[in-house]
Formats: sequence, structure tokens, C-alpha cells
Amino acid sequence: MAGTRSLYCTTCGTDEQHRVLFKAEQVWLKGRILRKNVDEFVMCQAPGCRKLRTGHTKEPLADVLRIPEDL
Ligand SMILES: [Zn+2]
Repeated sequence: MAGTRSLYCTTCGTDEQHRVLFKAEQVWLKGRILRKNVDEFVMCQAPGCRKLRTGHTKEPLADVLRIPEDL
């Protein structure tokens, strides 16, 4: 699928498909981590996970953030 890539997820402990964030998810994340640009963030697509990471860093944030499902 376009826009997805296989990356290691520290929550799953395995390589999982990650996708870039939808607009509403980016807005939510910006409000949480107070960054202007969250384009580098991707989300684990394993069922029930939704853990965030960036393409370069497995644990980019001090707190583990998961995208809410009901944005
Ligand atoms: Zn995961």
C-alpha cells in the first residue's frame, strides 16, 4: 500500500507496517507534543497498537503516545 512501510515497533517487538498520519491525527499530535511539524511521524498498523515513531527513531518521544481511534 502506498504510504506504508515496514519498521520496527517497540510495543509489538516486531517489524510492522507503519503509515503516515491522517490530517486529524497530525493536528492531535501537534497539540500533544507542541511541535509545528509532525510529518516525520508514522503509526504502527498492527491491530490495537497505533504506536507512534519516526522513520529514523524508534522512541522519539519521552512518553509513549498512541493515536486515538476516534479522531
Ligand atoms: Zn506496534
